[in-house]
Amino acid sequence: MPDRLNGSYYRATANAWRTQASLGSSLNCDVVVIGGGFTGLSAALACAEKGLSVVLLEAQTIGFGASGRNGGQLIPGLRWSMREIDAEFGRERAQAIFNLAYGAVDRVKHRIAEHHIQCDAKAGHLEAAYKPAHFDAMQRDAAFLAQHFGWEAQIVQSQDIGRHVHGGGYHGGIYDAQGGHFHPLNYALGLAKAAQKAGVRIYEHMAAQTPVDTGTQIEIQTGTGAGAATLTAKHVIMAADTWTGGIAPDLRSYTVPIMNYNIATAPLPNADQLLPSDAAVADSRFVLNYFRLSADKRLIFGGGEKYVQTPPADIGAFVRKHIAEVFPSLGNVPIDYAWGGAVGVTMNRLPHMGRKGNVFYAHGFSGHGALVTTLAGELMAEAVVGTMSRFDVFANFPHSRFPGGKWLARPLATLGLLYYAMRDRL
Ligand SMILES: Cc1cc2nc3c(=O)[nH]c(=O)nc-3n(C[C@H](O)[C@H](O)[C@H](O)COP(=O)(O)OP(=O)(O)OC[C@H]3O[C@@H](n4cnc5c(N)ncnc54)[C@H](O)[C@@H]3O)c2cc1C
Repeated sequence: MPDRLNGSYYRATANAWRTQASLGSSLNCDVVVIGGGFTGLSAALACAEKGLSVVLLEAQTIGFGASGRNGGQLIPGLRWSMREIDAEFGRERAQAIFNLAYGAVDRVKHRIAEHHIQCDAKAGHLEAAYKPAHFDAMQRDAAFLAQHFGWEAQIVQSQDIGRHVHGGGYHGGIYDAQGGHFHPLNYALGLAKAAQKAGVRIYEHMAAQTPVDTGTQIEIQTGTGAGAATLTAKHVIMAADTWTGGIAPDLRSYTVPIMNYNIATAPLPNADQLLPSDAAVADSRFVLNYFRLSADKRLIFGGGEKYVQTPPADIGAFVRKHIAEVFPSLGNVPIDYAWGGAVGVTMNRLPHMGRKGNVFYAHGFSGHGALVTTLAGELMAEAVVGTMSRFDVFANFPHSRFPGGKWLARPLATLGLLYYAMRDRL
């Protein structure tokens, strides 16, 4: 990954963390977890709490992937509104999906409180309407959510939007006091410490190869040269998100990686005027702008996507034009940090979870993973000990592969995404 993707504000303000020493040449355990992001860490912690012996392998460092780079926006639910979910799956299934997807908010809050995770967690999320038609749809969604599922979010008329954001010219929005924002890398590191305390052995810089099911156990090779090791386990949890295809080629075409970029400005003297309620804000465009304040009053802003893997030569300049659209007064604001990462997106924008024998997987949270990944990890831990009912609610989402095979899937998906991005501009 190019260096210019790694210069994040989160890395610069990460809490201290110490990983396990070296692994040795062989190791046997109940569960090997592959990937040290929210999903893998949550799964590892939950497995250890169930009394299982757990090893977590992370190819780089904890939070190296999307979990340590994201916008930190805690947005309850999934990418589909409950109105869409209800229409597609019927009330009974919608209720089960609601219980999990919206219950994920409490799981994250619970983990933060239980393990005293210092991650600058704040309450309040605003979805801001970019077009009047978006606001109409938002109001219908919010009314449906309240009436049928009892989830109350506040409708904010356009004349009141300044309570939350001064900029953007938004046509109203939905304020959800149960959403919020946090420092994602410090949340990941907090989960890692909690997992370690619960007995999970965490090894960084140890990339797992494709798990091999021998019929009696699963073998995982990791490391190279003198550091090579063979792990054997009863179960494997794959939590490698956009890298999943590298260890499970048959899962590759279920997601495409979309590059997304973030910056952190210098601390802003007028930060509280720009975002008076300190809520995180995401607008309703297909390629959205999303922003919030850090604990030290920087604007953390994400905007613009790229459908090629190569990052812009100057990420700050790339994001700056989107900042200026929302906050014209910040057109020349100093940018202290700029970074980027890959968002794993499925065809239908719902997470892709499932199992192949004793290998469980979850990936493709489609830009909506800051809350749901903690839950997804816990669902996989339940499945490992044989409790399938909640896992199956998510594992039964209907998924299709991106067409085009190994070489054409990304270009074809790109064409589709560009079409939707263009519609926003019309
Ligand atoms: C720029 C950006 C902004 C985003 N903003 C938001 C947001 O504001 N709100 C929101 O809800 N969601 C957001 N998302 C999405 C969210 O961050 C992800 O859905 C979530 O973090 C995925 O977590 P994960 O643990 O599944 O994957 P990751 O965090 O990507 O973790 C996967 C880990 O697996 C490791 N790995 C890969 N291959 C191997 C291997 N072979 N062996 C061992 N380890 C391996 C990787 O190094 C990585 O650390 C954003 C994503 C990006 C990229």
